Amino acid sequence: MAQHFLLSAAARTLSLKGIMQMSDDEAHAAFAAIRFAGNGGEAFCPRCGCAAVYAYTVRRIWKCQGCRRQFSVTSGTIFANRKLPIRDYLAAIALFVNAAKGISALQLGRDLEVSYKVAFVLAHKLREAIGAEQIKGRLSGVVEVDGAYVGGHLRQENEAKDRKDRKRGDEAHLPR
Ligand SMILES: [Zn+2]
Repeated sequence: MAQHFLLSAAARTLSLKGIMQMSDDEAHAAFAAIRFAGNGGEAFCPRCGCAAVYAYTVRRIWKCQGCRRQFSVTSGTIFANRKLPIRDYLAAIALFVNAAKGISALQLGRDLEVSYKVAFVLAHKLREAIGAEQIKGRLSGVVEVDGAYVGGHLRQENEAKDRKDRKRGDEAHLPR
């Protein structure tokens, strides 16, 4: 029997260990390779799509020869106007996508040392990005899907006035 894909090395492409060992330059290069994968990893202008760009050596930004605008590796992505180091965003992606059963914003916040609010927004941006990508294409060949369940059981309404009534009712039904 063939080995299950998730047990193979091919399934371990984005490890937290690997990311946390990256220098700032390595993290930036890794992000750029993913960000500009559609252009063979070479930067292109997110505004006009022009591939003729100058790379600045001092700051990690580019300037488009077409529209003359500057852009960074995160311009035009969900990580634009970022506050955290690029490595932390890679780590957030790794934590998020490797959590097979999902990850709570509180846990993500603890792992990344950011507030609940920052982690919550980050997780939602990642979900939105995944959702936006999924709309684009149709899957083909052998497709395997993992499921996630959101919501489900509706809890009984729990209001203070009902609690009081229920308690009284329960007492009335106690065995004597
Ligand atoms: Zn441009």
